Amino acid sequence: MSLSNGRHTLAIPGPSVIPEAVLQAMHRPAPNIYTGALIDMTHSLVPDLKSIARTGHHVAMYIANGHGSWEAALSNTMSRGDKILVLATGRFCLGWGEIANRMGVETQILDFGRASDIDTDAMAEALKADKFHEIKAVLAVQVDTSTSVKNDVTALRKVLDDIGHPALLMIDSIACLGCDAFEMDAWGVDVMVTGCQKGLMTPPGMSFVFFNDKADAVRETANCVSHYWDWRPRMAPEMYFQYWDGTAPTHHLYGLRVALDMIIEEGLEAVWARHQTLAHGVWAACDAWGQGGPLAMNIKDPSKRSHAVTSIGIGAPYGTQLRTWLTQEAGVTLGIGLGMGTDEDPNSDGYFRIGHMGHVNAHMMLGTLGAIDAGLKALEIPHGPNAIEAASTVYAKRA
Ligand SMILES: *Cc1c(COP(=O)(O)O)cnc(C)c1O
Repeated sequence: MSLSNGRHTLAIPGPSVIPEAVLQAMHRPAPNIYTGALIDMTHSLVPDLKSIARTGHHVAMYIANGHGSWEAALSNTMSRGDKILVLATGRFCLGWGEIANRMGVETQILDFGRASDIDTDAMAEALKADKFHEIKAVLAVQVDTSTSVKNDVTALRKVLDDIGHPALLMIDSIACLGCDAFEMDAWGVDVMVTGCQKGLMTPPGMSFVFFNDKADAVRETANCVSHYWDWRPRMAPEMYFQYWDGTAPTHHLYGLRVALDMIIEEGLEAVWARHQTLAHGVWAACDAWGQGGPLAMNIKDPSKRSHAVTSIGIGAPYGTQLRTWLTQEAGVTLGIGLGMGTDEDPNSDGYFRIGHMGHVNAHMMLGTLGAIDAGLKALEIPHGPNAIEAASTVYAKRA
């Protein structure tokens, strides 16, 4: 007998749960890609994507995952031999920097470890030392999905402005667009990359690069720009195929259209508020469990935690044991301890992550938390009581 039969829940931090309406929109015969409804529908995605990024500037759409958007952003802004500043707060910004390296860009890395946000004093020091403005871009992630830390993007802009440093501010919001608040123009972000499979609730396979005119001016001379990643034809295509440099991702587009409609109908700020409250419920449960055992959230300061994902330390081998038990016995899959291990063994058996991004609600979170509670009991992992009580109280009060 197993209690895992029934609808399986994927509670990992991406890809996220796909709404039925998105799946249904994708379930259709192949459309005409030369004329007709698909063309108008694709044009309609552009203003809606920009409204979710809170920008009046440009977007280029790609058939690619998040890694592709990283390369696209770099390709359009970098020349071989350029230097960039990488502000690492976990696995993801390091990964973005590694891609830059492979493209012939020199990276200066400030690594703030796996449990902290960016130290803006250290960032300021590095930029002040760069008297001849050799640093062409500052790379940071808004939310690092491995550590679940959230960086204050406005603070990064302020450092650049205070020093008067002209480097582009390039932000990875792949984990959190449509979950944590983000305002591209108001926050002074020059380039932002995101993917479709997290807050945007669409199966993996599309990603987006948002950029302003300052970044586009750099594109003029960037010599890393390649045919496929070039954002110019995609930002204002004269012919439909130029959006994609070839065949459109037809079914993804139908799915994405419905996902964006869902966000717009709920209201972007209501979507952010829902994620905030759902996250607070998860944190309340973790605090209760932690009262009587080893379980502890990776990021101590709640103001620095993402509303999209929570990374939790519990000690090896409990993290992996708990994940395995939940999948086999309760029908819930949790995220692995990505990037929290050693150089030789990068993922950790002592961590797990709960994704609470996109198409999630109170009942889904209570289900996941309840399953974790059962797993802690079944595996006899010491933990404090009343975690589910604590989470349901948060949801009852909409705290
Ligand atoms: C998921 C994620 C990525 C990578 O996206 P892929 O689609 O897996 O390539 C990059 N950065 C962050 C912050 C992410 O959460």
